[in-house]
Amino acid sequence: MEDEHQQPWRVLEFYSGIGGMRYSAMKAGVNAKMVEAFDINDLANDVYQHNFNHRPFQTLTAADLDRYRANVWLLSPPCQPYTRQGLQKQSADARASSFIKILDIIPQLMQPPTMLFVENVVGFETSDTHQQMVQILKENEFVTQEFILSPFQFGVPYSRPRYFCLAKRKPLSFCNPEYDGQLLCVPEPLHDRKKSIPINENDRLTSTFDEILQTCLPIERFLESASTTNLDAFSPEGSLNQYSVPSSLIERWGSAMDIVYPDSTRCCCFTKSYYRYVKGTGSLLATIMPKIRDKTSLEELSLRYFTPREVANLHAFPKEFEFPEHVTLRQRYALLGNSLSVAVVAPLLRYLFSDP
Ligand code: SAH
Repeated sequence: MEDEHQQPWRVLEFYSGIGGMRYSAMKAGVNAKMVEAFDINDLANDVYQHNFNHRPFQTLTAADLDRYRANVWLLSPPCQPYTRQGLQKQSADARASSFIKILDIIPQLMQPPTMLFVENVVGFETSDTHQQMVQILKENEFVTQEFILSPFQFGVPYSRPRYFCLAKRKPLSFCNPEYDGQLLCVPEPLHDRKKSIPINENDRLTSTFDEILQTCLPIERFLESASTTNLDAFSPEGSLNQYSVPSSLIERWGSAMDIVYPDSTRCCCFTKSYYRYVKGTGSLLATIMPKIRDKTSLEELSLRYFTPREVANLHAFPKEFEFPEHVTLRQRYALLGNSLSVAVVAPLLRYLFSDP
């Protein structure tokens, strides 16, 4: 951790969305001053402004960047070019180009950043954008450590594996320099500086998936209403009724639904299409616990969607986070689906910001 008497790190947040990076920096307790945030999405900026009392910038020019005298850049560029749903055009896709353009500015800066943090979907690590990123970082004297981690590895019953790149410019270095240039799939190096995990053990540790799930809190701890069986219970986002899954959807898509129970210790990644599409967009909650789970018909489970607040809880967003009223339900899910897990990013940032 930074010495108290030192100046706070000056941080820029690129692709700020609804502020997942900023919440993570707050949770990490790092000595950081958020200097500016950037995002082109008006609605995301409304949400950011509502919570942080500051509206992100929509445009960015190279000349501006030096003005901020920032030491740290946090970036979560749009992920579509690398996802399976995307066409895998990778860096030829316009969405990837703004990211590389920003990195290309680094050597032109009077005061380039000394630390970088990049978040993206799994698949990014094999893309040509990743290759370009690594190349640029190397040319600019950065050492990197990369991770693929998911909230369930941090006690949250939620699967959302994401790719992370942590970069420090020499002479700065990581607490565990033995991982320089490596891609790790376990969180241990973040928790325990002394404990060194041989890289070949990395594989073994990832295979204990079931054991790790056992250590997660049950889903009910992330739900809005204590009584999950009461669909009429009032919730801040209106009656839970609007979240019940219509039987027409169950008939049509039942076999593709991922169903979890309040006592489950896992659920699937919520994407930006949750509530609009069923397949692969996130789990549904059974509000009635049947005696025999596998034999009960879906209609009897009283299925409902997780509310946006519950998705935010699974993303480990703080209680204070809220949406301005004008943001519709679908928009809330879309913005949350693009965001990130504070439970994962906070320890990564703490590790990045700590001195050896
Ligand atoms: N980490 C953020 C979400 C990142 S998703 C969060 O916690 O919410 C990617 C974001 O990049 C989206 O909000 C999108 O509006 C923004 N974006 C995409 N292309 C951009 C560009 N060229 N310039 C600025 N922002 C962009």
